Amino acid sequence: ESGRRGLVIGNWKMNMSIEEAALLFEGMKGEAPACDVAVCPPFPLLYPVKVMLAQFQDQIVLGAQNMHWADQGAHTGEVSASMLKELDCRYVILGHSERRQAGETDEEVNLKVKQALSEGLQPVLCVGETKEEREQGRSGEVVISQLHAGLDGVENVNSVVVAYEPVWAIGTGLAATPEQAQDVHRTIRQTLTNQFGDAAARVPLLYGGSVKADNALSLAVMDDIDGALVGGASLIAVEFKGVIDGFS
Ligand code: PEP
Repeated sequence: ESGRRGLVIGNWKMNMSIEEAALLFEGMKGEAPACDVAVCPPFPLLYPVKVMLAQFQDQIVLGAQNMHWADQGAHTGEVSASMLKELDCRYVILGHSERRQAGETDEEVNLKVKQALSEGLQPVLCVGETKEEREQGRSGEVVISQLHAGLDGVENVNSVVVAYEPVWAIGTGLAATPEQAQDVHRTIRQTLTNQFGDAAARVPLLYGGSVKADNALSLAVMDDIDGALVGGASLIAVEFKGVIDGFS
């Protein structure tokens, strides 16, 4: 047993209205989950969702999907870490592959990771190879390079969460097998240990990519898979609850 508590984070991407969010939470009422749970709504929904989450008494917490690295200022259309903190966000997803595909660089992700940590947010640093890179046998190399870049200059890993999200598994219905995922998670754990020593053993490593109720448990039993970053299935109460159960 690793002693690491399960962590399941829902990434709503650019989905959900206020009304749909209320319905989702209606469907999620019930027993307290035995793992940590967060949802990451789009920015305009952060405040209404924060209000809705009061009914769960901290059993479901808030996260965001991105932020800017600057403290404040002339950055039209951007959102700062302190704004997210003020809305009680605990987590912020950084370097999601959909943002990297839209042009976000390792250097920008690194600036954001450092800013999130300095403002007391927990970055969920996303790494993962494309289909082509996997076929070339480069999965490990790609992930190690994204980790080195994303965590450059980070001294304390205690608040960091890492999500392994193979690009070919995101939104495709084609999840990595538990063995494929564990293989990369072991590489991630080793890379973190090289940089941070024993503290790496406590870093939650999430798998993301077509996680659903019916494959969550098979992933959760693997040694270095501590939780899940969930896209599509986090929008459906029974599916999200099923994933939470798998990691509880
Ligand atoms: C994601 O985008 O973080 C994700 C894992 O998506 P999905 O679960 O829909 O594959």
